[in-house]
Amino acid sequence: MTVFSLGGTIASTNGGETGSVGGVAPELGARDLVEAVPQLRHVAELEAVSFRQVPSGDLLFSDLVELAGEIEKRMEEGAAGVVVTQGTDTIEETAFALDLLVRGDRPVVVTGAMRNPTLAGPDGPANLLAAVQVAASSQSAGLGTLVVFNDEIHAARFVRKTHSSSTAAFRSPTAGPIGWVYEGRPRIVYRLPTLKGVPGPAGVTVPPVALLTATLGDDLRLLSQVESLGYSGLVLEAFGVGHVPGRVVGALEDLAARLPVVFASRTGSGEVFKETYGFPGSERDLLSRGLISAGFLDGPKARVLLSLLLGARQDLSGVRDAFESLNASVGSSEIRNEG
Ligand code: ASP
Repeated sequence: MTVFSLGGTIASTNGGETGSVGGVAPELGARDLVEAVPQLRHVAELEAVSFRQVPSGDLLFSDLVELAGEIEKRMEEGAAGVVVTQGTDTIEETAFALDLLVRGDRPVVVTGAMRNPTLAGPDGPANLLAAVQVAASSQSAGLGTLVVFNDEIHAARFVRKTHSSSTAAFRSPTAGPIGWVYEGRPRIVYRLPTLKGVPGPAGVTVPPVALLTATLGDDLRLLSQVESLGYSGLVLEAFGVGHVPGRVVGALEDLAARLPVVFASRTGSGEVFKETYGFPGSERDLLSRGLISAGFLDGPKARVLLSLLLGARQDLSGVRDAFESLNASVGSSEIRNEG
């Protein structure tokens, strides 16, 4: 099994390499992290690869496209699974990107730490051990990319960082965790349908996609700048089940005629509706004006999907189909009449 390290708090110390501001910074590589947890030896034979050494906010889609390629290479060579350690700030996005990009059934598990190794009670070693235990288990196959944190197992498609500093920061508000780790063993309590992935990117360059949030009283004048700033798409975090102020729908319709505009719920939980409200700015109105529903994906995850689709040169109808089929692939939402 391979452990890829990308930096973040789990790898952060103050050994002297920091910039002039002091404090801790990502200095440890994959080997350091693995060697700090002797119990790992009893779980799997590990290859340690220091892939990047950055705060996770510095990662780019191009890094993830490259990482997905390295992961697939290890899988082709027979790896039972792969673990990725990185900063927690963007795990909810990077794990979902890997979920969409990495083909095959074998587990990919992402983890990190909220407490760096210089603090009392750092959580990195326990999280790394649990992540390797989950990745080494045949039960974890076919579940897509997972995030293992604080002894909980989350699906990349649902997980969010919900606290700035708690070691229990990772939660899946819409669906809950899919399992947990006890005595070194994963307990998976529900299995996920296979996620519809995205076609491989046409290159490592992924076009920029903007993310805006609707807020009380704002006229969303930034919409008028989206194209001129060079964005290729927009995700709008709308109110509740998918609502915006009625006065902005004209600008949204204009923009949606020229580039993909996806709307998600700014609540970060549940999904946007399709057919309930009928006022200007409602979900029905937005859909009729050509906007695309993110379904159950939250804003950052919808942005990951849209970015990768545009990176794969999908046109507007390809984007629309991908959002629809991804949502359809994750559980049924049909009302079945059993007669
Ligand atoms: N605070 C972050 C972390 O938890 C830093 C980062 O995301 O790199 O790792």
